[in-house]
Amino acid sequence: MPEHGVTGERQSISREIAELARMVVDVGRCVVLTGAGISTESGIPDFRSPGTGLWTQVDPMEILSATAFRTKPEAFYQFILRLCDSLRAAESNDGHRAIARLEEMGLIDVVVTQNIDGLHQRAGSRNVLEVHGHLRTGTCVKCRRSYDMGFVLDVVRRGSLPRCDACKGLIKPDVVLFEDPLPVDFVLAQQAVIESDLLIAVGSSLEVAPVCYLPGLASRLAIVNLMPTSYDSRAQVVIHARAGLALAALAEAVRLESGGNSHSEQEDSRNSPGDIE
Ligand code: NAD
Repeated sequence: MPEHGVTGERQSISREIAELARMVVDVGRCVVLTGAGISTESGIPDFRSPGTGLWTQVDPMEILSATAFRTKPEAFYQFILRLCDSLRAAESNDGHRAIARLEEMGLIDVVVTQNIDGLHQRAGSRNVLEVHGHLRTGTCVKCRRSYDMGFVLDVVRRGSLPRCDACKGLIKPDVVLFEDPLPVDFVLAQQAVIESDLLIAVGSSLEVAPVCYLPGLASRLAIVNLMPTSYDSRAQVVIHARAGLALAALAEAVRLESGGNSHSEQEDSRNSPGDIE
């Protein structure tokens, strides 16, 4: 996008960004909930954006379901192989980096992500709850032994199905498939949202259950998303813009709003030796 376009885009959301920056600085606990939309600027398509969304090309319910894994494991693993190759090529973007910066400043407590791409961690976020799992490891469906996905994918590349060394059970990637129960991270995410003062939902249609119920548990809600969501009318701040642009602007506005002082810096100064009587 030409520079004047970006400037115009930034100006059009400046009021909302300033408002959200004030909230982030003023509230106590802030949780960020991200969806596939935060990673589209890293070249990973989301599910529902018109034209480019994965949903328009394949039906994820058909391929990424527990039934598909059980009944058509070869096709399932060919899809996982292509997915892992494309995710490995992707880099974190301004949106992931801005969130990591706000976490580093002590202003974001937890990042709850529906994504399986690991880009928050690669950008430097440390407290990440992956409510749909991840693709770093796989687990034997029979004896629960854990395997590195590098090993699993090498087997698939050689044209075989990945089986457990110990019991020959099929190895399943540690992603949450359609029909699977949610991992413990989802329970922790629910708790984090209930205890938070502000939830910022970024790049999610907020349509996938049960994650779509999380915004309903938040005491205050902000939304950063290209398209409108069903929660827009309940949010205190709504920003319809690219996540990379909006979050980079937010991190900068927060820095100015807090006078360059983050919660952790304020905490440090409160705990400095000079304060001890
Ligand atoms: P979704 O596809 O339902 O919605 C994505 C939303 O992001 C859309 O409303 C779209 O308008 C918005 N969006 C797209 N690009 C954006 C941008 N640059 N900035 C701001 N907003 C943008 O995604 P979802 O709500 O996360 O649910 C889909 C499910 O798909 C999730 O469960 C997730 O696990 C899975 N998924 C993950 C990845 C990934 O790991 N990167 C990719 C595709 C799908």
